[in-house]
Amino acid sequence: MEFSGHILIVPFPLQGHINSMLNLAHLLDLSNFHVTFLLTADTHARLLAHSDVDSGRFSPRFRLHTFPAGIHGDRTGSQEELAEMFYSLVKIGEPFLRELIARTGDSGPPFTCLISDLLEISLNISRDLGLPVYYFRTIGASALWAYFSVPDLIQANELPIKENGMDSLVTKVKGMEGFLRARDLPSLCRADEMTGPVFKLVCTQPQLVHQLHAIILNTFEGLEGPILSHIRAKYPKVYTIGPLHASLKARLQLKQASSNSLLQEDRSCIAWLDSQEPKSVIYVSFGSISVITRQQLMEFWYGLVNSGKKFLWVMRPDLVVAKDGETPIPLELEEGTKANGYMVGWAPQEEVLEHPAVGGFLTHCGWNSTLESIVAGVPMICWPFFADQQTNSRFVGEVWKVGLDMKDVCDRSSVENMIRELMDKRKGELLKRVEDMGKLAKEAITEGGSSYCNLDCLIQDIIKLNVSVRKTI
Ligand code: UDP
Repeated sequence: MEFSGHILIVPFPLQGHINSMLNLAHLLDLSNFHVTFLLTADTHARLLAHSDVDSGRFSPRFRLHTFPAGIHGDRTGSQEELAEMFYSLVKIGEPFLRELIARTGDSGPPFTCLISDLLEISLNISRDLGLPVYYFRTIGASALWAYFSVPDLIQANELPIKENGMDSLVTKVKGMEGFLRARDLPSLCRADEMTGPVFKLVCTQPQLVHQLHAIILNTFEGLEGPILSHIRAKYPKVYTIGPLHASLKARLQLKQASSNSLLQEDRSCIAWLDSQEPKSVIYVSFGSISVITRQQLMEFWYGLVNSGKKFLWVMRPDLVVAKDGETPIPLELEEGTKANGYMVGWAPQEEVLEHPAVGGFLTHCGWNSTLESIVAGVPMICWPFFADQQTNSRFVGEVWKVGLDMKDVCDRSSVENMIRELMDKRKGELLKRVEDMGKLAKEAITEGGSSYCNLDCLIQDIIKLNVSVRKTI
C-alpha cells in the first residue's frame, strides 16, 4: 500500500482536547496515514490505564509517544495552572518537539505535517522548520470567532467590560450582534482574567493564525454555518469535520463508543440507568477540569433533590475545592440521593447520553459535552465554568434553542426550576429541537454530508503535502 504521509498530533494535554484529537487520529489512521500522537508522561500513563487505546483498535502505524518529564500536571481548573502548563510546554515541550521532528526522517518516514492546538509552538515549528501546521482548535466555531474578535472588542471599547455591564449586548462580534451579551464572551474577557500571557496570546492570535496551513474544527455546517462564513471571510481554509466522536463511531460501525478516558469509568451507572423509566433521568457532569466550591455543591445538590427527579451525577474526586470547609452532608440530601440519585467518579459519558433513560443533561457546556448531547438528542441545562463555555451556553439557550442557559447562578431554587422546565414544562419543545439538530449532525458525518466530505478533502490535502515533501527530499 502506498505511503500517504506521517502526521504528528500534539494536543494540549487535557481530557477534552485529547478526546477530539484522538478521534481525529483514529480517523486518519483508518485512512492509512502513519500517526504519532504526543502526550505528557502523566496523561500517557493514565490513558493507557483507563482507555481502550491499547486494545488493538489502532493499526500498527499509530504510535503513542511522550514528552519528557517535567511538564506541569494535566488536571487544572485555574488560569494560573493553565498558564503554568502552557509555559512548561513551551520550555520543555518545544525543544523536544523540534528534536523529534528533526530526527524522524532517520528512523522512519519523515513528518508530513503537524496537527496541534498549541498555537505558539505550532507557529515556531512552522516558521523555523517549515513543517505545515493544521491548527485544530477543539472548541466550537462560535467561541473561536468570539476569541478572534477580542482585538475588535478592545478597539471599540467594549472590553474591558464596564461595571454593571455584563448584560449589555456587544456589537463587535460579527454575526452575534443581536444576542451576545458581555457575560457570554469567553471567560478570559472578564476583568480578573484580562491580564497575563494567555490573554495576550488571544489578542495576537487573529494575525498569527494566518501563518498556519489551515484550521480544523470539530463542528458541522448545520450547527455553525453562519458563524463559519465570518471566519472563512478571514481564513478561507477551514475544515469542519465534526462531530468527530460520531463520525468515528459511524465509520467503524460501532454500537458502543470507544474510550479515550484518563479516569476510570464506573460502568455500574449503566445498570442503574437500565432500571429507570425512559427520559426520566437528568445526567449531571461538569467535565474533566471544572471545580466547584462546597457551597455551590450544596446548592446544586439541594436543587436536584428538591426537583424530585432521578439524577446521575459525576462527582469527580477533585470536583469540589474545599475552601469553604467540610460541613457534613445534611440528612435530607443523603436520603434524597438514596431515593432518586446515583453518583459515580467518572462515567462512560457518550454511552450515558445515548441511554434511553436520560432525558436531560446538566452540563458545564464544554465543547465535547455539548456535541455529545446534541448527537444523543438530549437537551441541556448549561452552567458554564470558564473559557469557551460561556459562549457555547448562550448558543445552546438562545440560538440553537436546545437547552437552557443558567450562567452565573446556581442557587438551589434556580437549579430546581431549571430542572422542572427542562424535564417537564418545556420538555417537548426542547426535545424536538435537539433531536432535529442531532439529525443534522448525523447527516453531516454520513457519506455525502458536509463533515464527511470535508474530512475527505483534509485527507487529500495532507496526501498532497506528503507528495511535495517527498519531492523535496
Ligand atoms: N467525560 C467522560 N466521563 C465523565 C465526564 C466527562 O467520559 O464522567 C468526557 C466527555 O464525554 C467529554 C470530555 O470528558 O468528551 C470532557 O470534555 P469537554 O470538552 O466537555 O469538557 P472539559 O473537560 O474539556 O472541560
